Amino acid sequence: MAKLPIITLPDPVLRKVSAPVERVDDELRTLMDDMLETMYAAPGVGLAAIQVGVPRRVLVVDASEEGQEPAPYCLVNPEIVALGPENRLHEEGCLSIPDVHVEIERPSTVTVRYVDRQGELRELSANGLLATALQHEINHLDGKLIIDFLSALKRDMVVRKFKKQARGAEAL
Ligand SMILES: [Zn+2]
Repeated sequence: MAKLPIITLPDPVLRKVSAPVERVDDELRTLMDDMLETMYAAPGVGLAAIQVGVPRRVLVVDASEEGQEPAPYCLVNPEIVALGPENRLHEEGCLSIPDVHVEIERPSTVTVRYVDRQGELRELSANGLLATALQHEINHLDGKLIIDFLSALKRDMVVRKFKKQARGAEAL
């Protein structure tokens, strides 16, 4: 396994719409293993392939609490098939937008249809943090970020800050 570099704002790659995966093969399983290692090292609750520069519809999540057994999920071509009627408010962070937190209200339960590591079609019903994380990561596959839940003014402020930081890093 290998830890991969995580792409951060303002890299335009984050806005790409990821393409469906046609076949689950060893290459894809290696990518998912590397994504899990990268997510655990960060540490984070979820990671989409686009965040490591691969524009394919693949994501990994593990919403287990500290001290619990790890509960990793690898989802290929995930699709939301049902959302619950209740909402859940959570202060979300994103590995691609370090140090920024956005309070977001999303449905508290979600059912996702996806293809697993073995290429089998499955369904996962989730609530709590796992439901939030799945919706956050699926947003990534469509180029949507947590800053899109902010007002245009606040979003511009965040983007400007990251552009300035990127310029500063180049100047060094
Ligand atoms: Zn994210």
